[in-house]
Amino acid sequence: MTKFSQMATVCKLIDSEFNERLKWQSEKLPFNAFGASLRRRFGGRIQRVSIDAGFTCPNVDGAVARGGCNFCDNRSFSPSRRVRLKQVSEQLATGIETVTKRYDKVAGFIAYFQPATNTYAPVEQLEEVFRLALSIDPRVVGLAVGTRPDCVPESVLMLLETLARETYVSLEFGMQTIHDAGLQWMNRAHDHASMINAIDRSRGRGFECCSHVILGIPGETHAMMMETATEIGRLGFDAVKIHNLYAVLGTPLGDQVQSGEIVLMQREEYTHTVVDFLERIPAEVIVERVSGDAPSNYLIEPKWCLEKSSLRLAIEQEFKRRGTCQGSHCVAPKIPPAQRPRPADATPESIRNQIDLGRRLPVLKIEKSGGRPQE
Ligand code: SF4
Repeated sequence: MTKFSQMATVCKLIDSEFNERLKWQSEKLPFNAFGASLRRRFGGRIQRVSIDAGFTCPNVDGAVARGGCNFCDNRSFSPSRRVRLKQVSEQLATGIETVTKRYDKVAGFIAYFQPATNTYAPVEQLEEVFRLALSIDPRVVGLAVGTRPDCVPESVLMLLETLARETYVSLEFGMQTIHDAGLQWMNRAHDHASMINAIDRSRGRGFECCSHVILGIPGETHAMMMETATEIGRLGFDAVKIHNLYAVLGTPLGDQVQSGEIVLMQREEYTHTVVDFLERIPAEVIVERVSGDAPSNYLIEPKWCLEKSSLRLAIEQEFKRRGTCQGSHCVAPKIPPAQRPRPADATPESIRNQIDLGRRLPVLKIEKSGGRPQE
């Protein structure tokens, strides 16, 4: 095959994937919902199964800061709790069993590495844990990996690129907002420039790039949240996960909400803001979530986010009332994301040292073939 015909094949593939991503428009949906997109892609219902492999976080262990984000209950990322975790294979098997009992006709599962920073370990260890999850059950159709924008050095992206040639891979970045004041308020210990650097190095490598966004950060106006929406298209994310800011027990934010120092967004305002947000992002972006919540005995506020189905319905009805849909008010960026240059890796040295030079994390729950924990 000549170089030219190879390129033509790649372009055709990209075009067909792009067209696939717009199919929701002919299905009379108000936005490009994740569940429906997975169904189209895999031919049936796909469920995510959350796995806690025992990672910690550079915003907790002191590599970039200590204390963690103000909304995150990172007390649980301590080594003592890591040891009590079940093995990855057991977590996945139990999760699959639970989901299979709850839903009829599940066609497959995505192993979702969710709590903490799931790219923060030596890259050989990351490969072991990701491949283990993929090998446990033939119904596992791929991986979703949650991480921070400052925790994806080149070695990690190369690993994900390799895995994405074999299976579905989604890399989920905690972007939260594009405004550094909000990131500082949350104690994220990274700025938006880190997010731009990470996505400009991640895009177009065969795995999906998802942005986790929080609406309702104190001090952010409606206009500022809409600027974050515009950034989703400008930076070329494949998917977005939108959460309302919510407070749980055992966090600095929880204390501030309980004392009345911080008041969280109300349901009606959130509904309108989500619709405004979705109207401003490109139609091809997959919408993985439109709200966030926590277990009811753990959640402080807002309680309305526990009623996910009625909130989703309210969002859909608001689209109907307006006669709009996702992308209705989206303005194409001056430079198409695919043409943005790939920058040099700006991963902080303290993080790179852990991933590229660091010792194996003793706490990751990876079994040897004999079933013993590997250290
Ligand atoms: S970066 Fe993620 S894991 Fe780390 S403290 Fe913040 S929310 Fe928690």
